[in-house]
Amino acid sequence: MIEKLKVKPTNRYRNNAKAIGIGNTFWDNSEHHGLAGIVADLQRGRLYTQEGHSFVNFSCCSYLDLDSHIQVIEGAITALRKFGVLDHCIPRTRVQIPALLELEASLSELFEAQVVSAISASVATSGILPLIASGHLTDDERPLMIFDKNCHVSMQQVKPICADETEIVTCSHHDLDFIEDQCKLYERVCYICDGSDSLGGYAPVKELTQLQECYGLYIYYDDSHSISAYGKRGVGYVRSHIDCLNDHTIITATLNKAFGASGAAILLGDRSRETLRIIERFAGAISYSQPMNIAAIGACLASADIHRTKELHTLQYKLQSKIALFDSLVPTAQAGSTFPIRLVPAADSEVITLGKLLFEAGYYVSPVFFPIVARGTAGLRVMMRTGQTDDDIRGLAQVIINNRLLSEVAK
Ligand SMILES: *Cc1c(COP(=O)(O)O)cnc(C)c1O
Repeated sequence: MIEKLKVKPTNRYRNNAKAIGIGNTFWDNSEHHGLAGIVADLQRGRLYTQEGHSFVNFSCCSYLDLDSHIQVIEGAITALRKFGVLDHCIPRTRVQIPALLELEASLSELFEAQVVSAISASVATSGILPLIASGHLTDDERPLMIFDKNCHVSMQQVKPICADETEIVTCSHHDLDFIEDQCKLYERVCYICDGSDSLGGYAPVKELTQLQECYGLYIYYDDSHSISAYGKRGVGYVRSHIDCLNDHTIITATLNKAFGASGAAILLGDRSRETLRIIERFAGAISYSQPMNIAAIGACLASADIHRTKELHTLQYKLQSKIALFDSLVPTAQAGSTFPIRLVPAADSEVITLGKLLFEAGYYVSPVFFPIVARGTAGLRVMMRTGQTDDDIRGLAQVIINNRLLSEVAK
């Protein structure tokens, strides 16, 4: 019998065998200890399992709790009634009802940018990065694409596709010297990074803008974590630090975290009608997959309206006071940052046990570990929200302190 051939993977930009090999054990362990696979009803800010356990979620990204805001809920319902359809299924390039245009106009005004929508930030990224790679968004010249080592998985995922269109390279976190060196070597360069990291820390926007001025560097920021929670009218960290969005910068942000709705916004500078058509027609799933549905659009319009009122500022202020309260009780490396996430470090071997203790006491905090975060930086990711009461925060802090996580925290 002839022996059949086996394929040889190249694994140049991704390696499932490795990622699953390491990550799945931890997931199994989490689930085994009741810290994953939880099913619970949400009632007035608390979660209730079928078994009768109730807890407060300290790992939810809806930082301003806009997702349960009455106006956002009503916005979804009103839009459904007004347009009378959930999604009139046909690519928008051919026929569309005006709802999405209304939303894009509203978001363009809010974020002072030309906004194109997508059903998620991941879909936006998977559509836009390949167009950057092929030079269609970088003045008809393929750029060297520099991916930040820590950029979100939604960007990492697209590496193999980009690598088929252009040269790609990965740099260490915010390595400005490396980026500048490449700008000296290559005609075109595009840097890809998060505007705000999921474990705190912001992109060096000022320094990167200088590189843009010196070398014409292109930048793709994913600012999903700071939109709404940060900046005047919730424009996010990156947009707050750029006076006028130029055609060398693209900012993508999910509308599913602090914005409290669904979908994503791609913030562009002044782009030509032709370029916008290229995005609509060729940006991967943005063109061939479903657009945002009417309920999502209505919720987004309502959330955008809240962003224009003083209420947004009040909510942002409230969030900061919750963060400050937590910081006053539990010191972490992120203390003092405006960012709503804190990492309480714990050894890989302990993080599940600690998460379980907290859960039993009525607080869900997700354990994070490689490959979600870098190796050796496991811990509990505490996320603050406006909807948590001061008592919730004090109670959580007490359990953390009682269990002496603090010996680890100090480092
Ligand atoms: C949460 C997150 C996403 C995912 O957003 P979706 O709209 O759900 O795809 C993408 N990028 C970053 C940086 C995120 O934090």
